[in-house]
Amino acid sequence: MAVRQHKYLLDESEMPTRWYNVVPDLPTPPPPPLHPGTHQPVGPDDLAGLFPMELIAQEVSTERYIDIPDEVQDVYRLWRPSPLFRAHRLEQALGTPARIYYKYEGVSPAGSHKPNTAVPRVYYNAKAGVKKLTTETGAGQWGTALAFACSLFGLECEVWQVGGSYDAKPYRRTVIETFGGTVHRSPSRLTASGRAFPEGHSGSLGIAISEAVEVAAQSPEIKYALGSVLNHVLLHQTVIGEEALLQLAKAGEDGADLIIGCTGGGSNFGGLAFPFLREKLAGRMSPEIRAVEPASCPSLTRGEYRYDFGDTAGLTPLMKMHTLGHDFVPDPIHAGGLRYHGMAPLISHVYELGLMEAVSVEQTECFSAALQFARTEGIVPAPEPTHALAETIAEALRCKESGQEKVIVTALCGHGLLDLAAYDAYLRGQMVDSGLSDQDLARALAAVPVLG
Ligand SMILES: *Cc1c(COP(=O)(O)O)cnc(C)c1O
Repeated sequence: MAVRQHKYLLDESEMPTRWYNVVPDLPTPPPPPLHPGTHQPVGPDDLAGLFPMELIAQEVSTERYIDIPDEVQDVYRLWRPSPLFRAHRLEQALGTPARIYYKYEGVSPAGSHKPNTAVPRVYYNAKAGVKKLTTETGAGQWGTALAFACSLFGLECEVWQVGGSYDAKPYRRTVIETFGGTVHRSPSRLTASGRAFPEGHSGSLGIAISEAVEVAAQSPEIKYALGSVLNHVLLHQTVIGEEALLQLAKAGEDGADLIIGCTGGGSNFGGLAFPFLREKLAGRMSPEIRAVEPASCPSLTRGEYRYDFGDTAGLTPLMKMHTLGHDFVPDPIHAGGLRYHGMAPLISHVYELGLMEAVSVEQTECFSAALQFARTEGIVPAPEPTHALAETIAEALRCKESGQEKVIVTALCGHGLLDLAAYDAYLRGQMVDSGLSDQDLARALAAVPVLG
């Protein structure tokens, strides 16, 4: 049989040394975050209680490129550059003329893309003399990544894990504790934000964020790190797309026709897509860029583009984003990382500008795609990127109908080896689709403050 290449690898010396900031390349800048009390644009000092200055500077930066510190690059090289795979066997099984590539972030210590931002976040906090970081975690991936990074730079790490996920994924807690982190079930009894809910409540990312923010605000030595959504988080994740561009060139492709990623807060999607968007805006490539979200938490496809809080208690700045309402509690689907009421303001802005599109998928279709992927490519995907895989497979089948040889690049942002309860439910026929009723959506949106 003809020799065919499956993996496109980069040498460590080819790893990107700068993060890409899409903001200066956009036709208009995204609207600024507003102070929750005054409703005026927040200044750096308003954020200084939560984040170190270097990260605040990155949050508002208009520089196109930001150098990755040597110390961060050194940690990145534990697993980066990550592989780009050509999905030959999946293509064959589908009988599609499309060429499917997946950028695999499951090779990181946490098993997802999250360490790409956890490492620089902890590095800048350590440099600023911070002793402890607090955070939320949904599926457990972000808590794992932050605990891992804290262990390398000698910081304490305290994690509020969404209750439903805490109960369903005990091994995630074990990994976080192995890296030296402390885990609380959220809503906890440790904070006023948590005590506002009954003990045993299944929780949400919005509640867990409120708890972590509340504790960080109590001491200058404690700061907070959000796992997604913010500009600087998406910035750090652009190493994914920068590497993928180099790898596609090695595969002999002129570019990509379609970029597909799942969106919870938008960071793995933005990380892959923004370097491609730069190429598109510069006229060097013309990929379609498509976000995929769960039908039960459809912030882009059914939410409203409004100012809303990032958390349930209303402690964070107001961000202009596609939102389902800050007190919306999504159904407990298995893709815990996608159960967030809002979308990154940068992704929301790019979507409003018409530079990308979005679709939503039900979870059983996602797991059907996951099994087909696992049985051809050999990787058990995390529940979140099964959304991207479902859309990738659907598109590849459309290509089969039309005969189009599209180059599809998708973000396989994590493995699912700690998410086997979800696979078990699917394999036993116990997984159900939930959707979101118009009434529930209207009720949640009614809680959003009315501003610009
Ligand atoms: C956290 C997480 C997500 C959702 O977050 P984004 O910011 O949208 O990327 C998706 N997939 C995995 C594997 C995650 O860990």
